[in-house]
Order: sequence, then C-alpha cells, then structure tokens
Amino acid sequence: MEYIDLHAHMVSRTTDDYREMAMSGCVAVTEPAFWAGYDRPGVDAFIDYFNRLTDFEPKRAATYGIAHFTWMCLNPKEAENRELTRQVLEVIPRYLELPTVLGIGEIGLNRVTKNELAGFKDHVDLAMEYEQLIHIHTPHLEDKWKGTKVIVETLAADSRIEPHRVMVDHAEEHSVDMILDNGFWTGLTLYPVTKVSPARAVDVIESRGPERICVAAACDWGESRPLAVPEFIMEMRRRGHPDSLIRRVVYENPIEFLGQSPKFRLPDRERSAVAV
Ligand SMILES: [Zn+2]
Repeated sequence: MEYIDLHAHMVSRTTDDYREMAMSGCVAVTEPAFWAGYDRPGVDAFIDYFNRLTDFEPKRAATYGIAHFTWMCLNPKEAENRELTRQVLEVIPRYLELPTVLGIGEIGLNRVTKNELAGFKDHVDLAMEYEQLIHIHTPHLEDKWKGTKVIVETLAADSRIEPHRVMVDHAEEHSVDMILDNGFWTGLTLYPVTKVSPARAVDVIESRGPERICVAAACDWGESRPLAVPEFIMEMRRRGHPDSLIRRVVYENPIEFLGQSPKFRLPDRERSAVAV
C-alpha cells in the first residue's frame, strides 16, 4: 500500500533505508529539523544542516521515487541558548522560500523551561509572519502530558493560529484527546522499544477513529524503524480493518494536512521521464 511518512529524520538514515521504504510503498517523506544528538557549535552548523535538508536529501530520496519535503527550525533542546536561537531565526526565512520547505518544525518543548517556551513562541511568530504550516514536537515520557498541555494552551490562546494548520506530533493515548478536541492535527510516532508501538497506535485509531490522525516512523539516530508505517499497516490488517480505513490514515490524511501548503505534491507516476 502506498503511504506517506510525515516524520522521518533521513539525515540519520542510510540510502538502503530509502530503498526499503520505497519498496514498501513509501511515496513521500517529510523531515522536520531536529536535535542532532549533540549541541551544534554555532549558527554555521545550522546553515550546513538546512542546506543538506533542502538539497542533498531531496535528491537522495528522488533516486528511489520518494518525494522529500522538510520543515525548518531550531529544536527545543538547543533553544535553551537564546543568542543562538536569535541567530538561527534570522537565517530561516531564506529557506522558507525553497520549493520543498513546507513550514516551521519540529518546534515545541523538551523539558518545558522558560527559554524553551520563549523559543517556541519566536518560531510561532515566524510561522505567522510567513504564513507557514507548523509541525510540533511534544516532550517524551514523563514530560509528555505537561508539555502537551502547555503547547495546546499557548496555541489555543493565540488568535492568529488556525488549528487545522498545526500538527501536534508524538501524541500518546493520554494526550491525543487534548490535541484533537482543540482542533489540531495529531501524529502517532511509532517506536520499537519505548513510546507508542504500532499495536498501541491501532488501539488509538480504534477508539478515536481516523479523523485528523497520522502515523509516522520518526526514525532518527536512535533505535527506530524506517519501516514502522508498513508495520502499522500490517497490524491494522491483522485486526481485520479494511484497506479503505488504513489508506485514510497512512495516505489520505497526510495529503489533507500537508496539501494545505501549495508546495506539497506527490511524484507524478503517470508521466514518463523519457520523451516518446
Ligand atoms: Zn523528530
């Protein structure tokens, strides 16, 4: 089945991963900017990273017929450094003009500190100024509920925000209602060891229905599975769900959310690359 992986950190993955994703039905990925596993030494390191996200990765993905899109930001962990945040925010607008950049993300909170919240609001201002979609990271594990609540309340209090243009990702059973009931989109990121498994994601779809929910691998430099979405598809089938419902979650929903950006388009399979 064709699918779109809305959250994949392909800079941390191999070309073989692209190949296997393509063979498993992946037609597009979107890659939010994130924490590299270490703090970057300065703004030049971000420029280098953003260049890779907007140039090398789309080319590498295209080799396997996968469309690659990206999101720009300075992640919540490094937002602790207010001066670095200011410098990175200055260079982001030039990337927002590029054809594969869909918006601002993944912004959000990690430990829910004062500086993180200030950096989060700076990015929201930037998204509003440049009319961008927003992709949001919610904290993992013990900070999940508190962090999601602060994010949802901050956005709900901002009259400029249109909730249907915001994806609040890394949801879990206990945070999904709060996100959806406020009109936002949400994402279930599928992990092999901790956090939401494919089976738990299917439970959420069974209890909430498919409206405004996407699933993604969120594969990165940690233990993760580039083929987590196909695993979700397999689990949905194992439990007897029809392909129409599965397709809604893994293909039609991402198109509905991402399609709000005029830049989002899928590879055209009907048109031959060879002139006839
Ligand atoms: Zn991520």
